[in-house]
Amino acid sequence: MSANSHQDFYDSVQRYFDRAAAVTDHSKGILEQIRHCNSVYRMHFPVRIGNDVKVVEAYRVQHSQHKLPCKGGIRYSESVNQLEVMALATLMTYKCAVVDVPFGGAKGGIKINPRECSVDELERITRRYTAELVRKNFIGPAIDVPAPDYGTGPREMAWILDTYLAFNNSMIDAYGCVTGKPVTQSGIRGRIEATGRGVFYGIREVVKNKEDMDALDLTTGLEGKKVVIQGLGNVGYHTARIFQEHDALLIGLAEYEGAIYDPTGKGFDIEKVMKHRKETGSILNYPGATNIEPTEKALELDCDILIPAALENVIHNGNAHLIKAKIIGEAANGPVTADAEETLLKKGVILVPDMFLNAGGVTVSYFEWLKNLSHVRFGRMGRRFQEAASSRMLDVVESLTGRSVKTEAREMVTHGASEIDLVRSGLEDTMINAYHAIHKTWRDNPKVTDLRTAAFAVAIDKIAVIYKELGVFP
Ligand code: GLU
Repeated sequence: MSANSHQDFYDSVQRYFDRAAAVTDHSKGILEQIRHCNSVYRMHFPVRIGNDVKVVEAYRVQHSQHKLPCKGGIRYSESVNQLEVMALATLMTYKCAVVDVPFGGAKGGIKINPRECSVDELERITRRYTAELVRKNFIGPAIDVPAPDYGTGPREMAWILDTYLAFNNSMIDAYGCVTGKPVTQSGIRGRIEATGRGVFYGIREVVKNKEDMDALDLTTGLEGKKVVIQGLGNVGYHTARIFQEHDALLIGLAEYEGAIYDPTGKGFDIEKVMKHRKETGSILNYPGATNIEPTEKALELDCDILIPAALENVIHNGNAHLIKAKIIGEAANGPVTADAEETLLKKGVILVPDMFLNAGGVTVSYFEWLKNLSHVRFGRMGRRFQEAASSRMLDVVESLTGRSVKTEAREMVTHGASEIDLVRSGLEDTMINAYHAIHKTWRDNPKVTDLRTAAFAVAIDKIAVIYKELGVFP
């Protein structure tokens, strides 16, 4: 990704903000305070790589501290630069506000290609980065809480936690300094699939609306919808898996080495495709599939729903007019540039914005942080009590009716909520509520022309209230 496209990404985010700010009635001062990135920490640190020493460039940006801690992932990618991390941190602020996660926005980035680093090197880089954050007070359960993003996962989060603990071994809430940790390291069940599951809950709401679907000449419901997913990393893979479970048809799948299309229209089995990719090292040449190269061409496939789930700026001025999807679900952050968005909206496409659609990750991160602060697994206190209460209720029903409830039905009715049940239900509720709030803003306000403007306006309103109540601005 070039420096120009990072500029485009940052400019797109600011253009989206300005467009939405214009439909709100907040003062210039408040809007300006919300718009700017509050703190940018750029660092260079040396790391031993083989017999050599490499100087690594890295960032942590805190866009807003209107609520604390700040929150956002850390990405490992060769294309990381300051503007990109600033744009991503900015999106985090609005994302948290839209789904009522009480955090300010932040993002981190380390400019490395993780595929070219050994596990040892990755560990050294991650630990040193964490130490740099500790040194400047840029990490902590009440300050700023990183999480996984592109190129990172539970393993990196475990290293961050371990390094933070080395500096703060007597801090009782120290485990809340990072989320997306392995479950064995105080993580939470359901965090890995959370973004993909959130994408599913979000799109399920979108396709439920009959009026909106009529306008696109589509039926309601996910069943039978032709779907193309770009990127089969953590977000894309779980989105594909859960879409498939709900009878959507995965007719196109794209990865960086190429893409495949299912000419039968029946849809791929995601597990089989993943197995093929693992065995052959590529998604290409999957039996029965048509290869698509270059991989970007997959975005132009004829489908109902297109899910870009990889990186920013993949739909731009050069290909927006070629996109055939009727719904675009932004599972990645910033996949559509502001110019491309204009073209797509003119064509009547429903664009489901990143700051809402991929908020499942940070939502479950919030649950993980709550778990870490409360030092107890969700469901631990109430599960057995709930099961016993339901069981007593069935006993009463049996004695009153003289009929017995079958074992299977009894088990279903008396099932008490476990951690994963609670995480999924909290996530589902969050995504449904957030969608209806932004949909209402879109439909009720004639000046709001699309879902993204609506999502930004909802977020701006929630943040502005805080500054107003603080009495900082009139
Ligand atoms: N990196 C994810 C995002 O962009 C998750 C952030 C988090 O869990 O804090 O939303």
